[in-house]
Amino acid sequence: MENFRFIALSETLDRQVVPVSYPSLKISDYYGSMVFNETVMREYLTKEAFQSVKLAIDKGKKIDRKVADQVASAVKAWALSKGATHYSHWFHPLTGTTAEKHDAFINPVSGGKAIEEFQGNELIQQEPDASSFPSGGIRNTFEARGYTAWDPTSPAFILDKTLCIPTIFVSYTGESLDYKTPLLKSVEAIDLAGQKVCQFFDQNITKVYPTLGWEQEYFLVDSALFAARPDLVLAGRTVFGHISAKDQQLHDHYFGIIHSRARAFMSDLEIESHKLGIPLKTRHNEVAPSQFECAPVFEEVNVAVDHNQLLMHLLDVVSRKHHFKVLLHEKPYESVNGSGKHNNWSLATNTGINLLAPGKTPEDNLLFIAILVNVLKALHTYEEVVRASIASASNDLRLGGNEAPPAIISAFIGEQLTATLDAIEMMENHKGLGADSIREKLKGIPKIPEILLDNTDRNRTSPFAFTGNKFEFRAVGSIANCAKPMFVLNTIVAEQFTLFYQEVKSQIDNNVMKEDAIFEVIKQYIKDSKAIRFEGNSYSEEWKIEAAKRGLSNHATTPDALKAFISPKVIALFEKHNVLNKRELEARYEINLDKYIRKLQIESRLISDLSINHIIPTSILYQNTLIENARGLKEVLDQKTYVKLSRNQVQTIKEISEHISEIRQFVEMMTEERRAANRLESEVEKAEAYCYKVKPYFEKVRHHVDKLEQVIDDRLWPLPKYRELMFIK
Ligand code: ADP
Ligand code: MG
Repeated sequence: MENFRFIALSETLDRQVVPVSYPSLKISDYYGSMVFNETVMREYLTKEAFQSVKLAIDKGKKIDRKVADQVASAVKAWALSKGATHYSHWFHPLTGTTAEKHDAFINPVSGGKAIEEFQGNELIQQEPDASSFPSGGIRNTFEARGYTAWDPTSPAFILDKTLCIPTIFVSYTGESLDYKTPLLKSVEAIDLAGQKVCQFFDQNITKVYPTLGWEQEYFLVDSALFAARPDLVLAGRTVFGHISAKDQQLHDHYFGIIHSRARAFMSDLEIESHKLGIPLKTRHNEVAPSQFECAPVFEEVNVAVDHNQLLMHLLDVVSRKHHFKVLLHEKPYESVNGSGKHNNWSLATNTGINLLAPGKTPEDNLLFIAILVNVLKALHTYEEVVRASIASASNDLRLGGNEAPPAIISAFIGEQLTATLDAIEMMENHKGLGADSIREKLKGIPKIPEILLDNTDRNRTSPFAFTGNKFEFRAVGSIANCAKPMFVLNTIVAEQFTLFYQEVKSQIDNNVMKEDAIFEVIKQYIKDSKAIRFEGNSYSEEWKIEAAKRGLSNHATTPDALKAFISPKVIALFEKHNVLNKRELEARYEINLDKYIRKLQIESRLISDLSINHIIPTSILYQNTLIENARGLKEVLDQKTYVKLSRNQVQTIKEISEHISEIRQFVEMMTEERRAANRLESEVEKAEAYCYKVKPYFEKVRHHVDKLEQVIDDRLWPLPKYRELMFIK
């Protein structure tokens, strides 16, 4: 009988390091060579068209048809010069991946010839048949019209000879069906609200925009071993697998020397990323065996999100060349660390400052503190929707594990900033002295600039940590589209800025001096949002108890967490800032539930199939060998010796039967629960049934399967084992 595990293993033994195709140039020579960026635009566009596109990028101004035609013709000329043959609108539907529909540039003309064509209308808008993308009931399939519309704020690029044009994706009736639309709207909302706040401090600030620097974690597994694990292929994670005798306990992988095969893969990944203008900068080993991380220099949030989506695509494409498969799932292996995608978030201005970087003067520091405190207040008010923004079936397996933040949202700001906020909270307000009094006061509080340099003051257990000049949202899942947590964060902070502006403004209108008003409101916010600040160990059990006392939510599961998206408070928030309306939020809620149900359904079926088709037959095969052996022993030994020596043998035979019977029983019960869940009409009830009735059987079945893995003859076991999957040969 063929055992795919051994076929796969023998394939990995012959692996060579795949040579990297290094371009014969410096990075700076090919960096962005596949991007229609500002430099290229200057070269290919008329002055007028260039200005128009710049205004669209910087100020959100509309581009008229004539200019669009010019841009289309320029982008076509550029793309053809790079060997592109096709073009495609590139967007982020709610499936979670990216979508493309390629059209050739070619257009037939008379005389049996063809010419390359690409016009303004093809750049601006397309109508992909959108009926198969999730829309949560917004779009009836028979009116299957979705539009993609050009997003000039993210540059076009060439991937595999195809010109890709980043676009938004909306329904015929105008509702957004993607991740990008609400993100762009949230960027506008935070700009509007942020400017007003900043102008209390500096009249020159006329633009505020979020920045994102993501850190992407992932696992590499040999492609042959991957193919021999149906669970990795279908679910992206292992549903069975006994822990390896050695995994991460020696901490010898973290920041260790990168394996030559992995290093070659990373080098190729970086070359491809750099060509596409993704500013990848960092690469290193992560904690678990065969776990890695890469991170770029931060960028404006919309571009950063597109770049992350593109990077996830490149990870997949480039890994194949190196006979690897990239696992982006949050928890591919039980017992070792899972993967996250840290979202480093901050706010920048047209004046070139980072609003979350402490300043040099007391006045600058007041601006910094105002922004910081507003973020904390926003987080406190809206922690539930922040939690919801990172909820997924796969992230549920990671959050609250030993290596990842819990499902409770809290913020860490470090000892020094805590002291600063405490000092402000305790200060008396000598009203009437205005700027002078503020200057005096800020001089008196612990020096802020030092924290920038002090990187030792870190808490890696916090889901939302201030790290010197940005917040690091660590609870985001590794496979997630960053857009969702980012548009939620932007929107809640936009709302908080709006309130802050109003409160300060109304005091000023009542003849309170500006500085006093700002100080007063900040003081109040520090008090109000205290419950969201936690400096201790977020992984601990005590924190769960403490957080409950503080009134913070703790939604351990996706169906629970997602409800926040349709709460009246959150609907009002998103409608007020024109990011998503009620219909869109309800549709998204439904899509997320549906996705959750389907993921669990796939895993549940997988567990049934693997148990019945792989595990049980293999176990019986081995058990038969043991039975035969016992019979043989009985023949050749005298009764007394036989009884003495066969005890263990018989015991193992019994154990195998017990495990098999437990597995059969649990699989049957799980299948029953699955059938019952499928019959439910309501998506909410179905998701809850999958979560609370079906899912508990996953661990029950696994327990017995993993026990069998320890007992059964290694030569018969059909699935590559953890020790084989996790260590690159
Ligand atoms: P680590 O958290 O692993 O120690 P760093 O602190 O060096 O790593 O940076 C992590 C990420 O933070 C990088 O991707 C970096 O680009 C990003 N980052 C730094 N400054 C900002 C900022 N102002 N806005 C957004 N992201 C930032
Ligand atoms: Mg980090």
